[in-house]
Amino acid sequence: MTDLTALYQEVILDHNRNPRNFREIPDATRHVFGRNPLCGDEVTVYVKMNGEVVDDVSFGGRGCAISKASASLMTSAVKGKTRAEVHDLFDRFHALVTASPVAAAEPRADGQALGRLAVLGGVARFPARVKCATLVWHALHSALEGGDSEVSTDDQL
Ligand code: ZN
Repeated sequence: MTDLTALYQEVILDHNRNPRNFREIPDATRHVFGRNPLCGDEVTVYVKMNGEVVDDVSFGGRGCAISKASASLMTSAVKGKTRAEVHDLFDRFHALVTASPVAAAEPRADGQALGRLAVLGGVARFPARVKCATLVWHALHSALEGGDSEVSTDDQL
């Protein structure tokens, strides 16, 4: 195991033990329930919008360490971002965890790197766990786009 892998695992364990934004938002603009039948993860994402900006975002539910850490990292990463920025981040995060040829970790000209989200890059080596990491993102996407109030990773790539 490389030092970097150890560091990444430490970050994931930390977010699993002390999840950030693990609470309800009573006056949320929308909330979407997401399910990953493959693993049994169930997560609800709450979003409070201020125009195009994610004013507040949180999650609840239960799931494995990867799903919880991913939700914790995601909510920390997207707060204060615009919808367009969130979609851009999701594209790159998805490319990272599915090991798509897109250079997921490359910062673009706009300087928006994946940052801490990159710690989940290791799940690309475990295809069965990819949906644990993307579940919360699919729920957020549906919340931002006015999609279904319930999503399942069965319907996603
Ligand atoms: Zn899981």
